[in-house]
Amino acid sequence: MRNESFEFLKALLAAPSPSGFEAPGQRVWCQYARQFADEVRTDAYGNAVAVLNPDGDPKLVFDGHADELGMMVTYIDDKGFISIQRIGGIDPALVRGKRVRIHTRDGILPGVVGATAIHLLPRDGEKKAPKWPELFIDIGAADGDDARKKVRVGDVVTFAYDFEMLNDNVAVARAFDNRVGTWCAIEGLRLAKEALGKGRNGRKLHCAIYACASVQEEVGGAGAAMNAAAIRPDAAIVVDVTHATDSPGIDVKEHGETKLGQGPSLSIGRENHPALNELIIKAAKAAKIPLQFEAFGISGGTNALTIYTKNGGIPCSVVGLPNRYMHTTVEMIDLRDLTRIADLLAASALAIRKGQRFRVEV
Ligand SMILES: [Zn+2]
Repeated sequence: MRNESFEFLKALLAAPSPSGFEAPGQRVWCQYARQFADEVRTDAYGNAVAVLNPDGDPKLVFDGHADELGMMVTYIDDKGFISIQRIGGIDPALVRGKRVRIHTRDGILPGVVGATAIHLLPRDGEKKAPKWPELFIDIGAADGDDARKKVRVGDVVTFAYDFEMLNDNVAVARAFDNRVGTWCAIEGLRLAKEALGKGRNGRKLHCAIYACASVQEEVGGAGAAMNAAAIRPDAAIVVDVTHATDSPGIDVKEHGETKLGQGPSLSIGRENHPALNELIIKAAKAAKIPLQFEAFGISGGTNALTIYTKNGGIPCSVVGLPNRYMHTTVEMIDLRDLTRIADLLAASALAIRKGQRFRVEV
């Protein structure tokens, strides 16, 4: 991976950005995007959009969601223990004993989610998964007044688990879901621009590219809806993480087989447009990018599900990055899959004809 791109990925991952509070990550993204885009804009709720070739036709969106899972302070008791609720789909069984960061008005405050010692639990206690109101953050406060001086109801909380490479290709971090999507969106734009500069294969970029870092996916996809209304795209390729199913205990007959390091996955079904999927498959073949395929009889539930019904129907495809242990503090990806997605986005954009529209022929 290009060194600047790698540093950008690490900076994105380091910026805490729970749903509804994405500004730190969006600032990193916009600063990077300004080097390549003709225009970078933000909106009322902090969506960020980078535009390349704005006079092109059709208008193509590369969407990634900028938010990550987190928690929010709900209550501080008189002993100084802090109650929390979740932001997005976090399994409460995974929260006990984790280091966290509370994002207060005075900066970051470290803490831990209390985890009572096994010796002190009732005999069958260790088997029971906690409910959210039973979980609490301990900041080592003297009492409630001490804690309330530092922390307020509504402060957001993130897990303190940072990026780490396990070997040359495989990395873990707390929030690949979905910094990898926003990373790919702007890297795809950068590579499309670079290919133009080199006149690769005599290709011209006919479409306008709108790389989007959409807010609030983990809590319902509102950011993507705002972007769809503002941009009115003719097609959208959504990049999100997808479940790698190659670790123990996952039934591939039920969930399909998606492996780490074997290339991006392309979703099939419902919101995924067959003609746009076909273009992506051809572009992958021409660029020698391996693809995996995933079946979603009902829906894959990404931003594509939000986007595709807007403006009378926006053709969408979903490109997934295989991710082990999604929605945990140890999400695992292969960086080769990541760079292949950026390559695939650029190759797909360059394969689009002037004025091309995607339709199901009936
Ligand atoms: Zn997610």
